[in-house]
Amino acid sequence: MNLELTETQTLIRDTARKFAKEKVAPQARTFDREEIFPTALFKELAELGLLGVNLPARYGGAEAGVVAYSLAMMEIAAACASTSVAMSVTNMCAELIHAFATEAQRERFVTKLTSGEAVVGAFALSEPHAGSDPAAMRTTAVRKGDTWVLNGSKQWITSGAHAGVIVVWARTSQQPGNKGLSCFIVEGGTKGLIIGKHEDKMGLRSSNTVSLTFEDCTIPADQLLGKEGEGFKLAMVALDGGRIGIASQACGVARAALEATVRYTKDRQAFKQPVAEFQVPRFMMADMKVQLSAAELLTLRAAYLKETGKPFTREASMAKLYASEMANRVCDKAVQLHGGYGYIDEFPVERYFRDARVQTIYEGTSEVQRMVIARETLKLFNS
Ligand SMILES: Cc1cc2nc3c(=O)[nH]c(=O)nc-3n(C[C@H](O)[C@H](O)[C@H](O)COP(=O)(O)OP(=O)(O)OC[C@H]3O[C@@H](n4cnc5c(N)ncnc54)[C@H](O)[C@@H]3O)c2cc1C
Repeated sequence: MNLELTETQTLIRDTARKFAKEKVAPQARTFDREEIFPTALFKELAELGLLGVNLPARYGGAEAGVVAYSLAMMEIAAACASTSVAMSVTNMCAELIHAFATEAQRERFVTKLTSGEAVVGAFALSEPHAGSDPAAMRTTAVRKGDTWVLNGSKQWITSGAHAGVIVVWARTSQQPGNKGLSCFIVEGGTKGLIIGKHEDKMGLRSSNTVSLTFEDCTIPADQLLGKEGEGFKLAMVALDGGRIGIASQACGVARAALEATVRYTKDRQAFKQPVAEFQVPRFMMADMKVQLSAAELLTLRAAYLKETGKPFTREASMAKLYASEMANRVCDKAVQLHGGYGYIDEFPVERYFRDARVQTIYEGTSEVQRMVIARETLKLFNS
């Protein structure tokens, strides 16, 4: 793996960094306090190519690869984790549709996502009774003539109330477990798609999280994505890539927390000297930096493997597991090193701390990541 960035990767990272600094960061606190979904930002992210970083130019993407995508996610997340999760899910939906769609579906839906016409994408897999175990889902899709009719409920759907394109999983046969699942593309506003209550969350407060209910929601038959019965495979493929997005988000949030802590401790005086002069805070910041760098390397390695067409399931889980747990540790230390000021919203570290918490839960909990890593590692020693 080459540790030097290419010109394209540098350009995407710098573009995202400038946009994050000038347009996203100044509003992040207000977005968080007032739970504002930053609709206007997504049009601009689309114009910069950041809603389809790893997609071909033909479908409106930046064609810049997975490493560039990861770098861009880190930059946007450092400014606002809520904005970055919607960006991540949109890229994930666009990539999944691109990978499994017919040409007509690609032209219609991938372009709608990368251009911002859909505002954002949403990924509807989890249900009230099926999170870590999506094969337990109960939503059904029944073929009726030239249509599919969906019934059931999805839970925790990021950007669900704002998404113009939603990738939805449903059971299409009574075959047990994961065998009878299929994947569909549902457009926002389709009759029978009911947007539920917006969750009042600890963090990511300007990210929209809702339940979605399907009541005889009827979509054209050609909105089946991939083959009937292939849905579980599509979900696993999408989640592998999605985990690189969340690992990148964790790195971005942790970096912002470390930078804020360095600034604060150099300025804050205690016992007549800056807090940053004491050895204990210095060692804490040294540990934060080491852990952040380790997470960045794991994340960029997983991105590089995906970009170069190599297996990356285990590496994506390792990156997501380590980076999300690292972000929680780093944000905790950032609050600690701010003392009482770390606990109030005048300084951003309390937001970083709240935003980091969900990272060990969504796109597969830390326990699920350990299951994947163990399974893939044991496979290596089977022969
Ligand atoms: C803010 C937010 C946004 C989200 N966005 C989306 C989204 O856009 N789309 C979507 O589909 N989902 C989304 N989710 C759902 C998320 O992916 C699930 O919450 C997550 O997968 C865990 O599922 P669960 O909440 O049902 O927990 P459960 O599966 O009930 O797990 C509860 C606990 O049991 C542990 N556990 C479960 N099974 C095992 C096992 N076999 N071994 C060891 N431990 C186990 C888990 O690790 C966890 O600690 C979101 C969640 C949140 C909070």
